[in-house]
Amino acid sequence: MKNLLIHVCCAHCAAYTVEHWQHQDYEAEGFWYNPNIHPFTEHQNRLESMKSLAKEINLPLTIAEGYDMPEYFRRVAGHEKERCDKCFELRLSKTAEIAREKGFDAFTTTLLISPHQKHDLIKVIGDKVAAEKGVTFLYADLRKRYSDSRHITKPMDLYRQQYCGCVYSEWERYTQERKIT
Ligand code: SF4
Repeated sequence: MKNLLIHVCCAHCAAYTVEHWQHQDYEAEGFWYNPNIHPFTEHQNRLESMKSLAKEINLPLTIAEGYDMPEYFRRVAGHEKERCDKCFELRLSKTAEIAREKGFDAFTTTLLISPHQKHDLIKVIGDKVAAEKGVTFLYADLRKRYSDSRHITKPMDLYRQQYCGCVYSEWERYTQERKIT
């Protein structure tokens, strides 16, 4: 059986994604690295939900040390229109690095289940960092299973976020249109 490191963005996207890859005969482990989630209290709420899910489904979960929020802003400042590119690259590149260091056969991300994310961009960046780091990126279009994933977590009564993660997306939550991109 091959082993797979899954970058987990939140419990609600992880629930079905983990099952999907386990059904493809992968031994799955979760990896939490989301310095794009602001403020810190929001980051902690989402992390606690992810920990609860991992316990519930017996998913080994590695949590990146610290809160790399300054690195997120170093990359995005002055490039706000491309902030999602920078954000995906930051998170996926770190996941690929850890996958390579720990000897995983491949890595992927729960972002691929969300219809709210820039799906095609995630694939492009996943392939790019895979080539750079020398570890395989596993792609699947899981967007049709988004509601199934939320159905799995519903009885667990976990914290549910109301915006993507960064302060820009929190601002946009209260507007009819995207202010920055
Ligand atoms: S909108 Fe979401 S994906 Fe884009 S930069 Fe913000 S947190 Fe990252």
